[in-house]
Amino acid sequence: MFRMSKSAYFAEFIVLPGLLGALTIVACNFSEASLLGWLLAFFGGVAIWPPLEYLIHRIVFHHVQPFVAFHLEHHHAPLALIGAPAWASFVAAIFVLLPLWILIGLPAATGATAGLSTGYLFYVLVHYAVHHRRPKRGSYLQRAQVRHLRHHHMPESGNFGVTTGLWDRCFGTVIGRVSRGDISAA
Ligand SMILES: [Zn+2]
Ligand SMILES: [Zn+2]
Repeated sequence: MFRMSKSAYFAEFIVLPGLLGALTIVACNFSEASLLGWLLAFFGGVAIWPPLEYLIHRIVFHHVQPFVAFHLEHHHAPLALIGAPAWASFVAAIFVLLPLWILIGLPAATGATAGLSTGYLFYVLVHYAVHHRRPKRGSYLQRAQVRHLRHHHMPESGNFGVTTGLWDRCFGTVIGRVSRGDISAA
């Protein structure tokens, strides 16, 4: 996570869908049984992303150097274009894909990597939107915005989930409640 130029920051918005497209094209060549395996692994990857997002944010971004330094820069300047370079996302996807390929085979490995990449892309888009957009009142995005801005601005530590508050509720790290009355806080 670095302070980046506009083109470097938004490259991820192109590289990740490209990666997803490539992993989907690979799936088109599979047999029906393998395709079913790809789909199951894809939805598994999508489901595993939110708790991973929570743990990465809570543990890695807030306790492991040098990520803490980069992340604190985002906390201090939430509107600055700070993120992971697109090549790092690509390398991370390879580091997920290769061991999974050995463990569960190519169809399930490409499906799981595509599912995790989808979750991560959704996180990147939601995180960008909560800092740079004015969401509609009462929308999902506005609830995500209120939740995340509390993470940035409240003195206590919590609300580590960006795309969902579910894992904060599970781990007891919710800061306040997101309700219609909180709209002005956004
Ligand atoms: Zn944080
Ligand atoms: Zn943020």
